[in-house]
Amino acid sequence: MNASQLQTPIEYLKGVGPNRASLLRTELGINTYQDLLNLFPNRYLDRTQYYKVAGLQRNSADVQIIGKITHIKMVEQKRGKRLVATFRDETGTMELIWFRGQKWIKENLKLNEPYVVFGKTKWYNGSFSMPHPELELLKEHKNKLRSSMQAIYPSTEKLTNSGITNRVLNGLMEQVFLEAKNSFAETLSEPLIETLKLLSKSEAVFNIHFPENADRLARAQYRLKFEELFYIQLQLIRKNLIHKSKIKGYPFAQVGDHFNTFFKHHLPFELTNAQKRVVKEIRQDLGSNAQMNRLLQGDVGSGKTIVALLSMLIALDNGFQACLMAPTAILSVQHYTGLTELCNDLNIRISLLTGSSTTSERRKIHENLENGSLDILIGTHALLEDKVKFKNLGLAIIDEQHRFGVAQRSKLWHKNELPPHILVMTATPIPRTLAMSVYGDLDISVIDELPPGRKEIKTVHRFDSNRLKVFKFIKDEIKLGRQVYIVYPLIQESEVLDYKDLMDGYESIVRDFPQPAYQISIVHGQMKPADKEFEMNRFIKGETNIMVATTVIEVGVNVPNASVMVIESAERFGLSQLHQLRGRVGRGAEQSYNILMTSHKLSADAKIRLSTMTGTTDGFEIAEVDLKLRGPGDIMGTQQSGVLNLKIADIVNDTEILKIARSYAFQILKADPNLLTPENFSIKNTFAQLVKYKNIWNYIS
Ligand code: ADP
Ligand code: MG
Repeated sequence: MNASQLQTPIEYLKGVGPNRASLLRTELGINTYQDLLNLFPNRYLDRTQYYKVAGLQRNSADVQIIGKITHIKMVEQKRGKRLVATFRDETGTMELIWFRGQKWIKENLKLNEPYVVFGKTKWYNGSFSMPHPELELLKEHKNKLRSSMQAIYPSTEKLTNSGITNRVLNGLMEQVFLEAKNSFAETLSEPLIETLKLLSKSEAVFNIHFPENADRLARAQYRLKFEELFYIQLQLIRKNLIHKSKIKGYPFAQVGDHFNTFFKHHLPFELTNAQKRVVKEIRQDLGSNAQMNRLLQGDVGSGKTIVALLSMLIALDNGFQACLMAPTAILSVQHYTGLTELCNDLNIRISLLTGSSTTSERRKIHENLENGSLDILIGTHALLEDKVKFKNLGLAIIDEQHRFGVAQRSKLWHKNELPPHILVMTATPIPRTLAMSVYGDLDISVIDELPPGRKEIKTVHRFDSNRLKVFKFIKDEIKLGRQVYIVYPLIQESEVLDYKDLMDGYESIVRDFPQPAYQISIVHGQMKPADKEFEMNRFIKGETNIMVATTVIEVGVNVPNASVMVIESAERFGLSQLHQLRGRVGRGAEQSYNILMTSHKLSADAKIRLSTMTGTTDGFEIAEVDLKLRGPGDIMGTQQSGVLNLKIADIVNDTEILKIARSYAFQILKADPNLLTPENFSIKNTFAQLVKYKNIWNYIS
């Protein structure tokens, strides 16, 4: 069966018809033969294994048992009737129960003949029962067994209730193979199949649905996972290559005075090797004719700002302007202050634009931007306003990207005739494999090394019952002149409750840390932005010792004198959030501490999160654990990315296959960008089909 035959609507399959077709469509999204073939089993049941009634466990798993029906009766209930059959093997008895289709069953059941029953058992009132079992006479069962491992497909209650049981799905699958004469067009190229020793397409689909043995099944899974990941990567890499060849950018041909002077005379520290590597990668991008579209990942404190500055200096050296956008006013101000200081001796004009810039400040900025007397603009979303027009924006940098949507990013594109180069910086570590799938069309740079001499933050877990000791510790730190964060969770659904927690906590802290010896700031989501900023600034300036806050401080704030981060109800935070919060301390020369406060009631996952935090400070390691705990769906920025829609591969566990698939996709496109050679014929075909039938667009936004 070739690709277009596989697009035949499912109602044409023998045994389907309009009713079943509509159920398959709504319940499982199956419209075509192809879709049915791609309904991959959840698991397999060894149907050569039979249970005994006496050996059943109370965990309601699928089992099959050989026995005889000795007795049938109808039982009247308040709501409808049920048909109950007594089923017996040599070790005991149980009940088979039907709530529907009783007439047919009653008329067709054969008493005292060996049956194989198959289904989920329930333990109720001291005995086992099996509602709506699949039934097969033993002699027929033995004849029909084509594989010792039976595929168990995903299903829904509605499907089962409408009689589309697993057995029916097995039957439909058999029908497809019958009509296709067990032959399906190959979708990968000969060389790929040979080098990787893959099963052919026909062998793979057959063995995924009707495994000949465990080994063949494993190879079938490998081949199909590879194929799925391969085509996603092929699409992403192609998009990236097309982007590079089609989307022209301003080539920044030279590295000039600004960069060189700064690099030789004003660099406040030696760059880490990772920073050097990343600057080189960016320089290469900027020097080419294509528009840069790069993601810079680096853990909190890894030194992304200096990389941003060096990149902006290159833009300036080529006669262009640059901008740096941050998610909050506080962060924008920090960048503005920091960068102005660094550029003190360079002849560079930098301005700050935020929501609180006055009208006259704005007017001035707009004017200077347009006449080119402003070099670097730093600010918040305010940068995206239509009134903000650059003379020649060459580079736009976005800090902490997960706070910005794709739409906002693309707005920056239209500030010029040609799109500016874009550098997106994020401190949310995304495991590399996930980044490959989510941002496969961006180029990625990673700063995987912290500047030398950092003291590792000491992280401890304390129970609420030890609060007094913790407070004593905080007081000692304050005595040494340090500042302290105390953070409360804020989770949208229970905002009122959280607010109460925060306020109760605040009051008790005010009691335990009385004025005037202690000054306390508080910042939370229900405050006006101006008030928040005021309180934040008191803390930044060192006027207050303690900052009580909800997670609004999570991103980027830099108070080097703060050395203690206390996280209340730490069990309620996700790993990446804990890690981000911890990154608020350890920014100065002092030993810093992260104290995770929890109650005694901890879920298994919470325990893993806490021990991960106390066990490592490596953001990527933490991200890997996070990914394993939560799955990709909850990781920042992946919601719409489609890694969720994988049909057979698993982004967490199949990273090795992903890497191989990506490298082959890359090699193939590099050698043959438009897939024109004969050996890539089937790849080109399959790819065209995937695009045509939009299957692949499920993966890519
Ligand atoms: P982030 O990646 O979180 O934005 P920053 O750019 O704010 O990190 O850098 C964190 C701190 O480390 C800053 O105080 C910065 O001056 C310092 N820093 C950055 N790079 C180096 C380096 N190579 N050597 C020493 N200190 C550095
Ligand atoms: Mg930063």
